[in-house]
Amino acid sequence: MDSARSWLQKFQPRDKLRATSRKKDPSGSGREEGSVPSGDDVPSSVTKQRVAAAKQYIENHYKEQMKNLQERRERRNILEKKLADADVSEEDQNNLLKFLEKKETEYMRLQRHKMGADDFELLTMIGKGAFGEVRVCREKTTGHVYAMKKLKKSEMLRRGQVEHVKAERNLLAEVDSNCIVKLYCSFQDEEFLYLIMEYLPGGDMMTLLMRKDILTEAEARFYVAETVLAIESIHKHNYIHRDIKPDNLLLDRYGHLRLSDFGLCKPLDCSTLEEKDFQIGNNNESSQNDDRPAAPKRTQQEQLQHWQRNRRMLAYSTVGTPDYIAPEVLLKKGYAMECDWWSLGAIMYEMLVGYPPFYSDDPMTTCRKVSSCF
Ligand code: ADP
Ligand code: MG
Repeated sequence: MDSARSWLQKFQPRDKLRATSRKKDPSGSGREEGSVPSGDDVPSSVTKQRVAAAKQYIENHYKEQMKNLQERRERRNILEKKLADADVSEEDQNNLLKFLEKKETEYMRLQRHKMGADDFELLTMIGKGAFGEVRVCREKTTGHVYAMKKLKKSEMLRRGQVEHVKAERNLLAEVDSNCIVKLYCSFQDEEFLYLIMEYLPGGDMMTLLMRKDILTEAEARFYVAETVLAIESIHKHNYIHRDIKPDNLLLDRYGHLRLSDFGLCKPLDCSTLEEKDFQIGNNNESSQNDDRPAAPKRTQQEQLQHWQRNRRMLAYSTVGTPDYIAPEVLLKKGYAMECDWWSLGAIMYEMLVGYPPFYSDDPMTTCRKVSSCF
């Protein structure tokens, strides 16, 4: 209600202003003083869009309010009916109804409260990506612990990732599945967007694989099966992840797997990528110049060690690792849901062998190897 009123107020003063300035207009043309002559009084398309948006906002707001009111009445009726059928004294009935009303009022108060970064106490940093960071945080009023993903708006705009962020937020809000990390709320300030998600304390698959080298077949089967369920649950809602990789597979406190990081994929395009895109530190072998001799053939053990030395840095490089990306996504050739199954195949290979199937000394070669499968 308050927000609807503030919308109306935004319009009213201008209308009043317009009315007074028209009165003052000596030419009697009806044009606003100081305004650029437009030739006619037809509103511009921007104004029309604003009007349509305001109308939609107000309509949605009141529709939502009516729906909430209706649901509140229904909840009361249900409770009254239950109490009438049950053997409860009149005093207890009144107390229970009062309790419900109190809860309803509290719920409405919480709904009106706009969440902000100040409502959370920031704890440990658990992830740092191209757009910002993920931290464990505690809600000050309830003490509940969450994961806060903080994304720098200017960085997302600069890289044209706004649509991806919206997709991430929408998917998390829309898909209610046990295989997907839960989103509790999202908000923004001048500089950042914030996603408040459930905190999954089991770490990510990348860290698990780094710790264990390889998994047993039984372990791999378990995690792959859970990832299949997670991928299926987003495909059912017509979303494609495109960026399935071990660091986006998180583990809850019981060791069950959840998929995360939707829409913030870092799509790679071989045609525009350059070596420097993969530079991930001074001691990184991939940043050497092109004159280096061809990489020597390694034993499986050497390949594993090489991969392990590089993987965390690769994961945090600005474009991410190309090791799990399907060729059609890499080449921007048009892709469908299959690309997520490709990534899962690459992960399964890594779980059993120790490094992903197309791994090579430098990510550009990995890109070429993957692309050649197309
Ligand atoms: P990015 O776009 O930077 O890859 P992610 O959403 O994948 O962002 O988060 C980066 C890392 O932060 C993850 O690999 C994981 O280790 C950690 N992380 C993200 N979300 C959560 C969460 N809800 N609970 C626990 N850890 C998380
Ligand atoms: Mg990620």
